[in-house]
Amino acid sequence: MDLVPAPRGENPVKTPMVEVEAVDVAAPANTETGALQEALEALSDFGTDSDNSDGDDALSDDGDIIQFVRDDQLQDVPGACTREEAVAYRKRLHDIGKAAFVEETLVQETVTAKKLCTAFGIKLPDFLEGAPDEAYHPLLAIAISREFSRRPKLPQYNSIDDAVKLLKEAKNIIVLTGAGISTSLGIPDFRSKDTGLYSKLAHLGLSDPQEVFDIHVFREDPSIFFSIAKDILPTEKKFSPTHGFIKLLQDQGKLLTNYTQNIDNIEANAGVLAENMVQCHGSFATATCVKCDFKVAGDAIFNDIKEGKIPECSACRQRIDEDALKPQGLKRKRSSNGNQKDRKDDESSDEDDYDIPTPGVMKPDITFFGEDLPDEFGSRLVGHDRQLADLVIVIGTSLKVAPVAEVPGVLPRDVPQIYISRTPVSHTDFDIDLLGDCDVVVSELCRRAGWNLQHPMIPPDEQVKISPVEGYESRHVFTVVGA
Ligand SMILES: [Zn+2]
Repeated sequence: MDLVPAPRGENPVKTPMVEVEAVDVAAPANTETGALQEALEALSDFGTDSDNSDGDDALSDDGDIIQFVRDDQLQDVPGACTREEAVAYRKRLHDIGKAAFVEETLVQETVTAKKLCTAFGIKLPDFLEGAPDEAYHPLLAIAISREFSRRPKLPQYNSIDDAVKLLKEAKNIIVLTGAGISTSLGIPDFRSKDTGLYSKLAHLGLSDPQEVFDIHVFREDPSIFFSIAKDILPTEKKFSPTHGFIKLLQDQGKLLTNYTQNIDNIEANAGVLAENMVQCHGSFATATCVKCDFKVAGDAIFNDIKEGKIPECSACRQRIDEDALKPQGLKRKRSSNGNQKDRKDDESSDEDDYDIPTPGVMKPDITFFGEDLPDEFGSRLVGHDRQLADLVIVIGTSLKVAPVAEVPGVLPRDVPQIYISRTPVSHTDFDIDLLGDCDVVVSELCRRAGWNLQHPMIPPDEQVKISPVEGYESRHVFTVVGA
């Protein structure tokens, strides 16, 4: 489950550790290119938004100011580049740099700014319709900066055979995972509005269903979270073929790190070792007392969660019970081990001066809105994995939520990147896109690699058909024959 949602307010996720679209190379501005060059310079520090909003592929949080169109939609846009033209323009930009590209296109008037915008996936805004071509220059400047800062696809990796060869030869694989690898187990993707989890939340009277995972709401009233926690708690020790695939990479000594956005901790069920994993949004694997920080294994509170009860801290409880045996005079002071707010509430409501101490609530160590992400993410990625990784496989995530979304941009650009999911993404260029049910894709990859990925959900006689996607040399759709 992709839990940590699109950031709001003071959520620390809002400030990405590493900026996805940071413009890292400034082309020398040695050409007189007029308004566009000025716009480019003015925007030289632009393009750093991490596009971590869910849904629309917008450049900035504050708006749908810039909307995007995918290459496969270009044919429906009047006056747009063809897909082939778009690909060629983008390649040319990376080949010759920004200034020369502007010289060769706009200055020499080989193409209009309006049309060129579409090569970079910009949806032409209605309000500019009929305006002089210069009106499109600022938009184009943004598009060019954005494109130029992207990691370009490595041209040498395209086919299924390439993917299998990369898998077999890699020694240090980074696997990035999201909700898509658990959905075949019936675990809802919280971020998907179609799963029904949102509608289950409707009766809770929250202005935004994601408030269930807001730390302030939790501190105010933990019962809201625990009323739905049982629905997202993985109860059985099962795992999907894709989890099995990650374990298989581990068995072969190839798994450098699995960065997962999922909080279900199902990787552990498959046998992926904690040391090989970073749970970027925390998990149910452990729980911590909100009052005294006492920590327990997650399953110690699973029964309470399943029964819809609010789990209480046994350490707090023990202290309270011990205090109860002590002389009355000491009781009051010792019992106020809670946070400030609780103490104030207690005092204002205890009119007869009796303090009724309550143990703290055990909160699963999943990262709520308003909480810091686990430190391990940045330190391991930048301090360790970046130097070692020789292959990245992204599975079952649209890669739009920080911090996992930052990973591909942090790694050296010559590290090959493979994408496995149902739908392609447009904001990151992977070298090979393997589209379809991720369980099917990984089982077929293993078959072709000669690896034995056994799993009850993979029929032994499964046959998989792979079809090319028209117009894309490196995009392939996997379907089960007869399914
Ligand atoms: Zn406690």
